[in-house]
Formats: sequence, C-alpha cells, structure tokens
Amino acid sequence: MRFEEKTPARGRGEGYQEYVGGLHVHTEYSDGSASMERVIQAARATGIDFLVIADHDSLGAKKHGFEGWRDGVLVMVGVEISPWRKGHCLAWGVDTCVGYRDADARVYLGQIARQKGAAFAAHPEGKSRPCGLGRVEVWSDWDTPHLAGMEVWSFMHDWSEGVWPFGLHQLPFRFLDPARWLRGPSVEILRRWDRIGQERRFVGIGSLDAHEVGMPLVPWRWLSCERIFETVRTHIRSERLAGDAERDIRTLRSAIEGGRCHIANDRVCDSTGFDFWGETAGGIIVSMGEEVAYERGVTLHVTCPAPACVRLLRNGADVAFAEDDAMRYEPTGAGVYRVEVRWKTQPWIFSNPIYLRSRQG
Ligand SMILES: [Zn+2]
Ligand SMILES: [Zn+2]
Repeated sequence: MRFEEKTPARGRGEGYQEYVGGLHVHTEYSDGSASMERVIQAARATGIDFLVIADHDSLGAKKHGFEGWRDGVLVMVGVEISPWRKGHCLAWGVDTCVGYRDADARVYLGQIARQKGAAFAAHPEGKSRPCGLGRVEVWSDWDTPHLAGMEVWSFMHDWSEGVWPFGLHQLPFRFLDPARWLRGPSVEILRRWDRIGQERRFVGIGSLDAHEVGMPLVPWRWLSCERIFETVRTHIRSERLAGDAERDIRTLRSAIEGGRCHIANDRVCDSTGFDFWGETAGGIIVSMGEEVAYERGVTLHVTCPAPACVRLLRNGADVAFAEDDAMRYEPTGAGVYRVEVRWKTQPWIFSNPIYLRSRQG
C-alpha cells in the first residue's frame, strides 16, 4: 500500500484540491473480468486519483482488504444493489448488503441510511431491451429522502444505447474508440435532475459502469479498463487528501455526497481546472452543491481549461451562453443554476448545481 502526495494545487485557494474519480467499477468479485490489481493499475495509468468499486451485490473487495490507498490510488468499495429487472442502486459506507437484492428499495435505502451509508440511483433510465420490448432496470423510487443523488451520465449505458438493432454494424468502431460514441446524459434525466433540485439538493455523478471483458487465450480485452477509465469521470473538490485512508475516505464521501463535483468525458479533453462557483455580495464563496439564500449582487463564475461552448441553466432553462473559457453572470432571481459545456459537437462537462434559494422558500 502506498500513498503519493498530489502535487498540483488546483482550484481556488489553499486546501482546495481537485481529484479525478472513476466511479462504478466492476471486478471479478461480480461480472467484470478484471482483478482488483488490474483495475488499480489501469486507474494509475489513466490519471485516476480515486476509484469507487461497485460489484453486483458483493462487498468482496472490501472484505479482502482492498479499501484504502493502493498503489497511489484511493479505493472506496461500495456495492451495486442489483435486483432482477428493477432499478439498480450504488451504495457505500456499508458493511453488509445481504438481503438488499430482494428487499424493496424503500426498505434497503432505510437500512443503508441507518448504517450512515449513502445511496445513489444507478443508470436510472435503465436499458432498452431488443426488439422494442421496453426498458428494464429503470429506477422508480424517487420520493425517498434517503437517495443522495443519481448517476446523471453513465459511460456504459450511453455507449450501448442505440446499438440494437440498427447500430450493430457500428460495433467494431464502438469498441475501437468508445468515447467517440457518447451522446451525453439523456434529456429525461437532466429534466428530472432540474426538477428535484428545485425541491432539495440532489447530487449528480458520472459513472463508468466498467466491465472489462477478457477473451480466453488472447491478450486482447474488449472495452479495456484503460479505454473506459479515460471517459466519464467525476472530479471532486475537497481538502487535501493526506494519506490517512479512513480520513481520506470520509473526505471523499463528503465531497461526492455534498455535490462538490463535476462530471466530464475527459477523453474529449481533460476537464481538470473546470470550476463553477458563486460569490455573495458579502464575499462568501459558494461551491457546486451548496445552497444559499439568493440576494442582489451575487455573481456566478465559470472557468474552463479550454475555450468551449458554455451554457448556464436556471431550473433547466438557458440563461447565458458563451463560446469562451470563462463566464461571469449576475442572477436576477433565485433558482437552481448549473453549467453544461460542449467541446465542438461533443458533450463534455456537466457541473453540479448551485442552489440559490428564495428567502421565503
Ligand atoms: Zn446496473
Ligand atoms: Zn454496474
């Protein structure tokens, strides 16, 4: 086990660091073919600072001691609760997942909350079945207070959507350059996110849902960890990770669960250095995921690592647009503000919202 100090002081101010995460990774503890060692090696090779392992209904990697700093990568082991044909759920901060698979979501979400764990809806739009037979694994329990957020953008679900039946001939190209085929989060998911955000803070995360597929006797891997790990990543803002695994996992959890993160397809362009923040008239800085009362004089700021098409949205509707590497905007009212950035024609960055609440509300 080894810890490496992260050198670049990115972001605003001392003690405010940006770390790149690969969330929702399957291993040989469920239906991935990659070992934990292999996954950690690929994370290191692709510049990932932390991994969230989420095997189907298994905490095997945690039981075998893989949580913590491994070869310079901070590993947090969660689980993907995967009931047959029902919505799936990512959970972490739990020591057991026995019985969750067959329980009603409202029951197991309550049990996770009692263990002080956190739960996020995984690929909430589900996946389409062949021949127009509808969708399966669609998340439906939106009213529970125990859901901290959801996967807004899932690499695997985006990549595989549209293959069957008319995209089958594209499959070899999809394998060769998976990131090129991503179309971004679905409109329905973004709408839902904007709607829930008007009621309560609701965190959006990006996920890989990585299942490396090996082939017997051939060193070639379909959708290798390296290929996938370069794509939809979640960048957190947090205090400096100091090398103490237990404390660093608490820091990591607080950043993700607090929504201090953005989602990006880093294969398009490395989004490190992107930021979205607010400043009140009194000079208080508000980060992504945070909530303050709206007041006159508050300003919102975006910085991008490269010039791109930056959209600022309020409650899901466009309020400002710039083809630039920065934006400054003075809101005229309360609302849930978030940023979407496109790189040429490709979806690139999705921020978590800043919640400017009305004083009456
Ligand atoms: Zn799933
Ligand atoms: Zn999964």
